[in-house]
Amino acid sequence: MQIRKIYLLRLIIQISCLIVIIIGQSSFAQSGLTIVREMQRYAEQSGADPSMKMIDLEHFIPGIKTDIRYATKNNFTGELIYTSAKAFARKPVAHALKAVQDSLSELGLGLLIFDAYRPYSATVKLFEIYPHPGFVADPAKGSRHNRGCAVDISLIQLKTGKELKMPTAFDDFSEKAHSKYMDLPAEAIKNRALLFGIMDHFGFDHLETEWWHFDFRGWEKFPLMDISFESLAVRD
Ligand SMILES: [Zn+2]
Repeated sequence: MQIRKIYLLRLIIQISCLIVIIIGQSSFAQSGLTIVREMQRYAEQSGADPSMKMIDLEHFIPGIKTDIRYATKNNFTGELIYTSAKAFARKPVAHALKAVQDSLSELGLGLLIFDAYRPYSATVKLFEIYPHPGFVADPAKGSRHNRGCAVDISLIQLKTGKELKMPTAFDDFSEKAHSKYMDLPAEAIKNRALLFGIMDHFGFDHLETEWWHFDFRGWEKFPLMDISFESLAVRD
C-alpha cells in the first residue's frame, strides 16, 4: 500500500512538472503575436505586397554608414546579439531613408545606422539579458524593429565619416537621452533638432526616451518577423 502511495505521489509530481514546462514554453504564443518565421511565408507576403520586401540599406542608399552595434560587443549587453552586421528595412522605409540621405547630403551630412530590422529572436535575447520593458522591447509585444519599421540612427559629416555631436552615445539609458532634455551643449541640441526635423518630414516619429530611435509611420501593417539576416541577404 505504502509503495503504491509513493508511486502515485511521484506520478503527480512528474505530471505537475510537465504542465509547468508546457505553460512556460507557450507563454509567447499565448500573447497572441503573429510572427513570420518562414522564408516561404515572407516570400508570399512580399510577392503579394511589394512594400513588405526587406531592403539592404547599405546597397540601396549611396553613402550611408553603418555601425551595427549588436553585431559587436560594443553594446549595452557586452555580448554579440547578431550573427552579422546588416541593416534591412521594409521598402517604403528604405525609400524614406534614401530621401533623408539625399536631403542631408546637400548639407554635407549623412546617416549613421546603429540598428534597423531586428529579428524577433534577438529581441527575446536582449530581454533575457536586460528584462526592463522601459528600455528594451518586451517580447510579449515585440518591437517595431522586428517589423522592419524602426531605425536607430545618428548624423555624420560625409567628408570625414565622423559622427556629429549628439546628446549621448547610442543606447545610453539616462535622462540625457530623452528627446526633450535640454541641459546639453547648444551644438548637441541643434544637431538633435536637425535629425528630428528631417526624419519627421520624411515620415518618422521620434521616441520620447531615445533620441536615436525612429518609427516609420504606418508600421502597424507590417508583421513581426524572425528571419535571419543571412536568409534575407541570400534573396537580396
Ligand atoms: Zn530602436
